[in-house]
Amino acid sequence: MFTDKMILRIPGPTPIPPRVQQAMNAPMIGHRSGQFSKLFAETAERLKPIFGTKQDVYILAGSGTSGLEMAVVNTVNPGEEVAVLVSGAFGERFAKICERYGIIPHRLEVAWGEAVTPEALEAFLSEKPNVRAVFATQCETSTGVLNPIRELAQVVREKTDALFIVDAVSCLGAVPCEMDEWGLDIVVTGSQKAFMLPTGLAFVAVSERAWKVIDNNKPQAFYLDLKAYRKSLADQTTPYTPAVSLVFGLAEVCAMIEEEGLDAIFKRHELMRDMTRAAMSALNIPLMTEDQYGSPTVTSLDPKGAFDAEELRKVLRTKHNIIIAGGQQHLKGKIFRIGHMGYCEPLDVIQVISAIEMSLRQIGVEIELGAGVKAAQEVLINHV
Ligand SMILES: *Cc1c(COP(=O)(O)O)cnc(C)c1O
Repeated sequence: MFTDKMILRIPGPTPIPPRVQQAMNAPMIGHRSGQFSKLFAETAERLKPIFGTKQDVYILAGSGTSGLEMAVVNTVNPGEEVAVLVSGAFGERFAKICERYGIIPHRLEVAWGEAVTPEALEAFLSEKPNVRAVFATQCETSTGVLNPIRELAQVVREKTDALFIVDAVSCLGAVPCEMDEWGLDIVVTGSQKAFMLPTGLAFVAVSERAWKVIDNNKPQAFYLDLKAYRKSLADQTTPYTPAVSLVFGLAEVCAMIEEEGLDAIFKRHELMRDMTRAAMSALNIPLMTEDQYGSPTVTSLDPKGAFDAEELRKVLRTKHNIIIAGGQQHLKGKIFRIGHMGYCEPLDVIQVISAIEMSLRQIGVEIELGAGVKAAQEVLINHV
């Protein structure tokens, strides 16, 4: 097998488009040069439509979690209460970050595979009058649920004065986000998912309402101090050395997004989700999420013991050169997850489905070869 043709179908890191790879290979330039400042400021500006905001978007060197931690440490003080919507591993991460800073998280937990509904949030918040912020995960990558952020935001806005802070790491750039219109206060994402870049950049957008809170708080962080990023961005730079090559790549990603158009990108991801779901249903492999909450970026399947998900992943990897993801935490070894975001198109989905069918047969599961592929093809050709 060609090792350089290994196909990544995990929910991050995702494949890098050749033109982005090439842009990142440009020679290093001075990070305080006029040339870099101009590129940096322009690129930060181009991120705004992706977040649906007129506010500045801060770019920092760090994985997605650095952005989550930045959102926590700047907005809430030790001893204060917050609500954390936990629909899987990443919701729980927000709660753990809060605990590390001495913040008191009240967890609204739903079963893995389920979404947090506005009704559940409203009931929960009515019993928690003191929360200063509500933390949510838009796409819960561990289960493939896309939480209804717009409706959840409406509840937070109508029922509380709390900030609403969203982890959109595994979906921003692939699904709609209207930060200003929906009333989101902080939206965080990272570079290695729908942004088609290597890991290493986090993006954080902050509302005016959030800034009022942040400006009144005593800074708890040094590297993650948002005020330092605001001051530097006004001077077209970052407080510490920026990840210059990743910013070269990001500028190219922005060009790709502008060329395809956000609406077309959202439709492409919905189509890939629908193809994947139709195929898995045709193969009788149970989906972990209801259609209504299935994420356009990642689909989780739970064979419920009908076969060993790890055996399937191993055959896919060793015989077909395709990597899919397993389960996290208590679902490790039980489920598998197919990433379909970023530099991925419908025909790539047909490829992974075809390889899954062959691998299932190779591990002795009785399925009809082509049944999933056919279902996905039908979705694709009927797509207008
Ligand atoms: C990938 C991911 C993160 C960030 O993880 P890092 O490993 O720090 O980049 C955060 N939240 C969600 C929902 C994710 O999918």
